[in-house]
Formats: sequence, C-alpha cells, structure tokens
Amino acid sequence: MKVLKFGGTSVANADNISKVIKILEKESKKHNIAVVVSALGGTTDMLMKTGELATKKDKQYLEVYEEVSNRYISLVKDLISDQKRTDVLNEVNGLLLDLKQLLQGLYLINEFSNKTIDKIVSFGELLSSYIISEILQQTLKSSTLKDSRELIITDSTFTNAIVKTKETTTNISTFFKKNKNKVVVLPGFVSKNGNGDTTTLGRGGSDYTAALIASAVKADILEIWTDVSGMYTANPKLVKQAFPIREISYEEAMELSHFGAKVLYPPTVQPALQKNIPILIKNTFAPTEEGTLITKKNKNKTLPVKGISHIENIALLTLEGNGMVGIPGFSKRLFSALSRNRINVVLITQASSEHSICVGIYSADAKKAKHVVDEEFVYEISKKKIKPLLVEEGLAIVAVVGDNMKSHQGISGRMFRALGQNNVNVRAIAQGASERNISAVIASKDIKKALTVLHNQFFEKQVKTLNLFIVGVGNVGAILLDQIRKQQQHLNTNLLLNVRVVGISNSKKMLFDEEGIDLNSWKAQLQKGKKRTHQLFFETVKKYNLSNSIFVDVTANEDVANTYKDYLKESISVVACNKIACSSKYSDYRELKELSRKYNASFLFETNVGAGLPVINTLNNLINSGDRITSIQAVLSGSLNFIFNNFNDECSFHDIVKQAQEEGYTEPDPRIDLSGIDVARKILILAREAGFKIDLKAIKNQSFLPKASLKAKTIDEFYKTLKTEALHFSKLYSSAKSNDCQLKYVAEFNEGKASVGLQEINKEHPFYNLKGKDNIVLFFTERYAEQPLIIKGAGAGAQVTASGLFGDIITLGRN
Ligand code: ADP
Ligand code: ASP
Ligand code: MG
Repeated sequence: MKVLKFGGTSVANADNISKVIKILEKESKKHNIAVVVSALGGTTDMLMKTGELATKKDKQYLEVYEEVSNRYISLVKDLISDQKRTDVLNEVNGLLLDLKQLLQGLYLINEFSNKTIDKIVSFGELLSSYIISEILQQTLKSSTLKDSRELIITDSTFTNAIVKTKETTTNISTFFKKNKNKVVVLPGFVSKNGNGDTTTLGRGGSDYTAALIASAVKADILEIWTDVSGMYTANPKLVKQAFPIREISYEEAMELSHFGAKVLYPPTVQPALQKNIPILIKNTFAPTEEGTLITKKNKNKTLPVKGISHIENIALLTLEGNGMVGIPGFSKRLFSALSRNRINVVLITQASSEHSICVGIYSADAKKAKHVVDEEFVYEISKKKIKPLLVEEGLAIVAVVGDNMKSHQGISGRMFRALGQNNVNVRAIAQGASERNISAVIASKDIKKALTVLHNQFFEKQVKTLNLFIVGVGNVGAILLDQIRKQQQHLNTNLLLNVRVVGISNSKKMLFDEEGIDLNSWKAQLQKGKKRTHQLFFETVKKYNLSNSIFVDVTANEDVANTYKDYLKESISVVACNKIACSSKYSDYRELKELSRKYNASFLFETNVGAGLPVINTLNNLINSGDRITSIQAVLSGSLNFIFNNFNDECSFHDIVKQAQEEGYTEPDPRIDLSGIDVARKILILAREAGFKIDLKAIKNQSFLPKASLKAKTIDEFYKTLKTEALHFSKLYSSAKSNDCQLKYVAEFNEGKASVGLQEINKEHPFYNLKGKDNIVLFFTERYAEQPLIIKGAGAGAQVTASGLFGDIITLGRN
C-alpha cells in the first residue's frame, strides 16, 4: 500500500486538483492508496484571520469567511458533475454554515482560545478532503472518505497536539484492514483528543498525518506531493542555484526540516524511520521529475554537505554572570523555566567557561522568555550574581547539514570563512555532537547572502559572481560596459567568473537590476531609471547586500570619491579611475587603506596613473616582495606629451594647445594640464604607494608657463597670453633644439622628495623617443639599481582606461 499526501498548493484550485486526480487515477491502477490532503493553499491562514477578526468584533471577518467559502464552493461548481452537484453543494454549505455559526459565536463572546482555533482551522481540511473524495468518486468508484479525527488521537495541546501513538496506530491499522476500497481520502492536520474535541497537529501537520498512516499500515512508501521537485540543497525560493537532492538519509532530512526546510514537517520523519518506510518527495506540477528519496541508507558518500537550511525570526537569549561559574543547576533552571512555559529551544551553545549560556528561540516567544527567566533568577539578579536576561532579536539561523561531514575535515572552517569573507557576522555557533549539523546565528538581513555564499561554497562549480555597481557611464564607463558585455561568456568559461552589472548611474539617473542589467539595452533603460543622488545610490547598493559587490567609480567627481568610505565599511570593494581620493589629504588616503584592510574589501585604482598600464600593480609587487623604491622618473601626461611632441619652430604654441584641446587630449580647461597639477597628483600617488607619507603641497611644481599665463582668470584670457607670450614658448623650444634635446614634462621622485616640471631630455635618455600620448615610468629600486624597471605605452584614452578598470575588477574576482 502507498500513502500519498498532497499539500496546500497541490490542491489550491480546480486546475491543480485536476492534476492530482490524474496522478491518483494512475497510481490506483497499481496500488491500494491512502490519500491525505491539506486545506486549499492559503485557506488555513484565512480561517485563522477570520477567527481573529470575529473575536475583535471586526465585521470584516464575514468578508474573509465569504472568500474562503467561495474558494471551496467554486471547486464543486467546476469539478462536480451536474447530477451530483446539488447534493455535494448541500453538504459543503452545511459545513460552511457550521463554520459561520462558530464565527458568530466568537463575535459575541470575544474569546479565541486555542481550542476554538483548532475547531475553526479544521474546516479547511474537512472541506477539501470531502470535495476531493467526491470528485474522485466520479471516475473511481472504489474510493471513499475517512475522517482522520476518528483515527488520530492526541492529548489536549490544542494547535500543536501530541499524538497518542499506540491508540492511533491501532485505530489506523484496524480501519485499513477492514477497508475494501482502492482509495481512501483523508483530511490531513486534524485529530481528536480523548474528549472528542478537534485538535490539530501543528502548522504543516498534514505531512505528519500521512506519516502516521504510512507507519501504522506499514506502507511500501510515503509520497509527499508538493510544489517543488523534492528537498532542495537550499530553499529554492531564495537560492536560484539550489537543486533537488536525489537521495538523503532520514537523519539528514530531519535536520534540514528542523532547521527550516518547510517542504517536510519535522515530526514526519520519525514514524517513517521507525518502520523503515521510504519517503519520496514529488512535484505535483512536474510528476515525471525524480524528486527526493529519503531512506535509511546514505548512498552518496562523496558530498559531505547535503543541504543548507535556515530559520527566520530567531531571538538569542544570553544568561551570564560570574555567579554561574562552577555552580551546578543554572542551565537546568533556565531550561525548565522555558519548557514550563512551552518555549521551544531551537539552538543551544554554552561556552566552556560556563560564564554564559546562549539559547536561540523563536522571536514570538522572546517577550515571554524574558519575563519568565528574569523571574526564575530574581534572587540571583538582585544579588548581582547574574545579569538580567539579554535578548537580541532580528536574527536567523543557517544550518549546514550532512551525514558525512564528520569524516571530512575543515567543513566548519569553509563555512565560517565563506561567511566572514562576505561580511556576514556570526553571533553564535552550535555543532551537533553527531557532527551532522553546524549552525550559525546571523542577522536576518544577511540570510539571502549567507545562503547564496554557502551554497556556492559547498555545491556549485566554483563560479564566482561579481556584482558591479558602476557610477559614471559616459565615455570611459560606456566602453567598460561594452568590454564587460563582450567578455562575459569568456570569463564564465575560462575564469569561472560571472560578472554581473547590478547597478549603474550617470549624473542624473540610476538603474538597478539584481539579475544583472541587460548590457545590450542599458542606455534606454537608464533613461527610464530613477533620479539619483550619491547617497541613494549607496543606500540601494547596501540594501541589495550581495556577496562580492564592487563599486566602480568612473567619474572625476569629488563627491563620489567621498563615498568610498561608506562602501568599504559595508565590505564592498572599490575600483576607481577617479584620482581625487588617493591624491587628497594623506590622512584620507590612509583611512581608505585602513578601512579596506579592516573590512576585508579591496580598494584598487590602477588607472589613476598611466591609464591601463600596469604601473601601480608593478609598484605594489615590488614593495610587497621586499624591494625599496629609491627613485621614480616618469612622463605621465598624455596631453603635455601631445603638445611638446608637436610643438616646433614652424608652429605657434597657442595653435598646438588649441589643437590638443580640439582633439580631446586636454581637459576642457587646458590650464589643469598645463599647470602640471594632474601630473603632480600622479607622482604623489606613486610616492604614497611606495610607502612615503607625502602631500600635494610638498611637490615642487616649476611651471614652464610665463607669469601672464599663470595669472589668466578665464580660459579665453589664458589663450590670449599664449599668443602674447609666444616668444617665451619659442625660446623653450629653441633652447632644447640647440642642446639637441626634446622637451618633456617630467615627474620625479627621489628619496622622499617629488617634483614636476618641463625638462630638456637628451638623446641618451629613455624619454627622448617617447611618441604621441605614450607614458613612461622608470622605477629605480634596491633590486633595479643600475638599470630601471621600465613601463611604457599608451597612457591615455578611453579604451585603455576602461580595460585598466576591467583588469582591477578581474583581479578582485580572482582573489
Ligand atoms: P505544501 O503545501 O505542499 O505542504 P509547503 O509550502 O509546506 O508545501 O512546502 C514546500 C515549500 O517549502 C517550497 O515551495 C519551498 O518554498 C519551501 N522550502 C524551504 N526549504 C526548502 C528546501 N530545502 N527544499 C524544497 N523546498 C523548500
Ligand atoms: N493546512 C495546514 C497548514 O496550512 C496543514 C498543512 O497544510 O500541512 O498548516
Ligand atoms: Mg507543508
């Protein structure tokens, strides 16, 4: 014989019930079956609601009642044939009338006891089982209905009754021995106490009803039919990558369900385990899928972790005080106080110092727990031997479960490292003595991230997802997005990196998509995006709370640079081509470095110097491997190179600068380039990265501009001075020419001192042949003492800058 249980979603409406009927017709050809059904999905909650409203004298209870009634009545209308419809409707209306009268009673007496709750919610299962049994009889004559309350006997703990196993087993087996029908339909969840009052087996209890029947009749199999294809490696509604576990042991299933895998009501496993009856979890909406088989054996010995589950709404109680050390009886008193008051303990940890005991309970019980525990220890608290009970709320538990964890080393290490690396703070830890379960208490807000991170760690081909938030999608930013789009597939296949752009913004709008913005249509989408402020952008990134988040700054904006701190403090890495943060006050630069270390988030800015050239990375490698920089000489300005490479005695300095500006080599205000400030910032960053404490004002900047140009108040005025001072500039050129030299704007750093300025460079020097907008950097170090380490190449341009940013992003992905 088989026992099949169909949950709330499986019987939620006429369409779904038709699917159930098909499954039953097929199964009944091969086996005798008992069918346990839940109430229509959502109606148990609605029944509770209508009872609460009636008790509060809120007339709306009638509306909710009508809604529930209509759902049941419409089933009859849709699925019962014309001949039988009136009879069935009469019966259903009779039950609904009983319910209504009960509610009217509540409305009058204003008392909603657990006993009444059970009476009211039982209507869900009573109605669904009756209607389904009638539908089934239309095609399967050999089928009948049996009220589970006549079989399952419990104590009087209403809403969570304890089953009297012996009596129940006898009732069930006697009934089925006498039964001649192929199919028996029974309501789940409902039972009866010794006085004949209706009780229920706890929310989700229909699974348990089915297990009790399966155990009593020694069924060949217990099948739990639901809305997912088995017990998954994690809740599939929260972790997209989760997949059904093919086979699992009773103990593993019990742990997973105890820790929140709602697909199976925890008490269900015990009766099946005792009689060694396999449990198969199947999907009503995809019946051909294999599902999950729960048995004694644990065949799959390779995977140490079988699943990850979680419980929300947890509160942590901490009892502590010096008075507890070495004195027996504190834990006993704590636990008896909780148990006397029916407070369920979900998790226990105790430090070996016995200085404190930590207990996880459901938040709903927290208030009561505080009251009863403080009362229990009122004397010790008054004598200051222990502190009043500490209650922390807003917590959740994640549990990693597997029979084989005990034979694999380092599972907890991997678990806590993965959580730590993703800034998930662990408040308490418990590990079962069987080593089948390691659980951690974390903040509720971190649940989704923790599950994803742990799932990735234990179940996925280690594809790492990088979540990018990019500010500034103008020229360079747009090219970066394009580069990412083109490389996504390659990175996934070859580096196991899933690079996903979750947020972007320009100066006006911002756009977010947790699944990753479609990079083929981001421009149009962004136009329709929300208005952005830097603060709002940050708040949104923070709210997403995704693992491996990276903030990418492709602006030159000071306000954006000022937000790096906020990101780093949330353990979000920062990649920037914006130079402002690293070249402002030394203390700010240091603070960012400290935050990066403290919060385990990287701060990379390779493109601050030489665009995509590996200048900073090379410098870091030298320093990290123990070398010491003695001197840096560099040409670091694309615009000044362009100007001095093209300026000669046949053209005017004014015209060359104009041309450079027109061709996009200078800033809109050319004074920023020509004053040398940009180059000074770059050498400052290199000096700081080389380990020197130095500020911008300490950099000597010998300007080659004449006084009149330096004094110019507007861009136009500045250009005019380039004309009036033409002689000054042509002298610079002719002097260089007569010395057989080239003019280069050079940045230098020697033993702690930095300077920038125009120099005449002779033929022997590596700078002499520098072309176009190329940059060059010479590092003289203790190891590279005679010949410098040279880095040379295009040091400006949108493509190379974007690829420098991309390089930083990939570096983070591979860390
Ligand atoms: P039913 O109404 O059929 O009893 P439930 O809602 O009680 O269904 O249980 C099925 C739901 O359990 C799934 O839809 C899923 O959201 C949730 N769930 C939580 N954890 C898991 C898990 N590890 N595997 C499968 N489902 C899970
Ligand atoms: N209908 C009950 C509930 O919603 C029992 C069940 O579906 O298992 O909790
Ligand atoms: Mg359920």
